[in-house]
Amino acid sequence: AGLRRGLSTMLDPKVRAPSMVYISGEEMTAYAMQLVRAKWVEPYFDTSAWEYYDLSCAARDKTDDKVLKDAVEAGSRIGAIFKEPTITPTAVQQKEMGLKKAWGSPNGAMRRGWNGITISRDTIHIDGMELGFKEPVLFERHAVGGEYGAGWKQVGKGRLVTKFYPNDKYGEAVTVDERYLDDEHNVAVVYHNPYDNVTDLARHFFSRCLKAGITPYVVTKKTVFKWQEGFWQIMKSVFDAEFKPQFNQRGLLARSNGELPHLISDAATMQIIRWTQGGFGMAAHNYDGDMLTDEIAQVHRSPGFITSNLIGKRSDGVPIMEFEASHGTVADLWHAHQRGEETSFNPLGMAEALIGAMRHAADLDSANKVFVHHYTSMLRQAMHRTMVYGQGTRDLCGPDGLTTEEFIDKVAWRLDR
Ligand code: NAD
Repeated sequence: AGLRRGLSTMLDPKVRAPSMVYISGEEMTAYAMQLVRAKWVEPYFDTSAWEYYDLSCAARDKTDDKVLKDAVEAGSRIGAIFKEPTITPTAVQQKEMGLKKAWGSPNGAMRRGWNGITISRDTIHIDGMELGFKEPVLFERHAVGGEYGAGWKQVGKGRLVTKFYPNDKYGEAVTVDERYLDDEHNVAVVYHNPYDNVTDLARHFFSRCLKAGITPYVVTKKTVFKWQEGFWQIMKSVFDAEFKPQFNQRGLLARSNGELPHLISDAATMQIIRWTQGGFGMAAHNYDGDMLTDEIAQVHRSPGFITSNLIGKRSDGVPIMEFEASHGTVADLWHAHQRGEETSFNPLGMAEALIGAMRHAADLDSANKVFVHHYTSMLRQAMHRTMVYGQGTRDLCGPDGLTTEEFIDKVAWRLDR
């Protein structure tokens, strides 16, 4: 029985979708999501309880970025967020779009605003079809700190001192580093890794790996980058105190003598290509996680087949979950679309994010939880069947694959049968 015909006898044709924050972006992903909402969501749901925030560059510019502050506030208040990819304007884009300034990364503002712990990126698998990895790969990318928040300056020859002043007026200043620069042209960079929430990251990572029955690897370059030792130590102490016996009982540490395995980040880049069987987990610092998950996405066929979920925490301890795809706004397909050419955008990563956000929203505001779970399972099945029947997008099915619009229509038809 189809979704509407089967359930419309028990429920109103349109079910009230639980409240969540919907953040829209731009280019190809915004266009595709407009079609997805109209053809996959609106026929079944009354979405009036969704709060919409437009984080396009034009809207941020017009509101002097108030819209970003409002979106962060709404996300903290509601706790379930769906986000389309957005553009962080470069100097060239600032000029092209006539913006007042090159607005900063909205993702960074949200990760900080929601006390981002981890960005979970997992491979998406299609029933009845093999992509890159046979078994799931789970990834935790530390959501804050590192190179992204670096302070830097171009400097000439001279003495460079980095000092730390404790937040206590009697504390003595500490010299973090002191060095002499010989070159006439240098760039000096300062960044830090905040480690208070790594305990939460560890619990989240190990719980997920245990549930999936896979081996967890902590990835760092601590052998050379000595400052990364702290990340490993926190992960290991949580693992030893709370998880080690369960992992050993299930035989998941057989290749590491019953201990939590550590993998050097450059070795991880090679293993990701070799371990196509999948069935492993990795946790890494922010930038390493960004790079490694892009590599995982490529091995797994397409950036359309990987999730990206930000887990944060409100000051009162309530979790905040934001769901998005790991890819960007897919500018090249957007430009092709604007030139009137056919495109074939794979919406699976964004659809998985929508499914995750709607399910989390239903966990927080549970009046229509059963229907939301039923609908999202049917949607997933309709997308997977369409792909398995050779009617997927071209990243999956080659030149015979469907266009962006044809794929969305085909799934809508299958969902409504
Ligand atoms: P991108 O991920 O948008 O695209 C990279 C390549 O992969 C392109 O060739 C694209 O066609 C292809 N691709 C990606 N996802 C696809 C899909 N689902 N189906 C078919 N093909 C797909 O990265 P980019 O081109 O480097 O960046 C474009 C814009 O996105 C930039 O302005 C960047 O700032 C922004 N961006 C935003 C986010 C975010 O908001 N989370 C993340 C990354 C990039």
